[in-house]
Amino acid sequence: MVTIGFVGIGNMGGPMAANLVGGGHSVRVFDLDAALVAGLVAQGAEAAGSVAEAAAGADAVVTMLPAGKHVAAVYAVDGGILGAADPGALLIDCSTIDVETSRVVHAEATEAGFEMLDAPVSGGVGGATAGTLTFMVGGSEAAFARAEPILSIMGKAVVHVGGPGNGQAAKICNNMILGISMIAVSEAFALGQKLGLKPDRLFEISSQSSGQCWSMTTYCPVPGPVPASPANRDYQAGFTAAMMLKDLVLAQDAAKIANAATPLGSEARALYDKFVAADNGGLDFSGIIKMIEAGG
Ligand code: NAD
Repeated sequence: MVTIGFVGIGNMGGPMAANLVGGGHSVRVFDLDAALVAGLVAQGAEAAGSVAEAAAGADAVVTMLPAGKHVAAVYAVDGGILGAADPGALLIDCSTIDVETSRVVHAEATEAGFEMLDAPVSGGVGGATAGTLTFMVGGSEAAFARAEPILSIMGKAVVHVGGPGNGQAAKICNNMILGISMIAVSEAFALGQKLGLKPDRLFEISSQSSGQCWSMTTYCPVPGPVPASPANRDYQAGFTAAMMLKDLVLAQDAAKIANAATPLGSEARALYDKFVAADNGGLDFSGIIKMIEAGG
């Protein structure tokens, strides 16, 4: 049994921390929302009154926060993790944040003498609850080897993808593919219908042809062909359009800094921006087909 400090126990962090408790670890949780802390204490966690209290004395500290600015603040030397954690504590940030901030925080952690990993996830709240997340991990081999037993309790796939910030890079590159491919599939089904092609016929062809992809065969944006997809329940999320937009914005920010050409990533970001601005942020991201069917 190890002692784990856990900061940020919202939709994702809550069930992840609960799984660590279930794995037999002593888990000390902190969140700005006291009701969330009370909820996890009822599941066997210990309450911490601050970030510093969650970090002090822990063997590992996990963070699951909304964005880069929250991670930078929580890691601060003054009152945060880098000032309070014991020497030798392993620091794991599971939030999805911008690559730049992740690398800055890594450097600060190293400077303060800590081993740190960025370990963003895919799999959503369902995966967090079931303990079947995929972790994309950036940092040293040595830190990865220490983290693997902890991450394996919360996920089914734990993959080391390189040095500091590379976990974030893998996450946003993957989700850029996902955003673009969902729009591609949506456009094809919308066009097919206008040409008189029934969605189930197009699905039968494309799901076994060169147009085949995850956005079609696992998450089809029209109702019918894939009964489990959100299209069959009025695009109830799933993975929200707001979350997809967040990741597409992170990808564009990173592309700008890296001077990488991502013309379709840029267009996908603009389309999700429009979809979310029309009050659809809470819908599943596959709901973008409604906007495309209505003329874009
Ligand atoms: P959330 O908003 O439900 O949870 C974030 C929690 O962090 C909140 O409870 C908030 O109170 C807490 N918090 C913020 N600042 C804090 C601080 N200074 N100290 C302590 N607690 C603080 O968000 P979420 O859905 O759990 O997502 C968390 C991260 O996981 C995000 O980076 C998101 O992009 C990523 N993610 C989410 C999903 C998903 O489906 N929800 C999937 C993959 C990745």
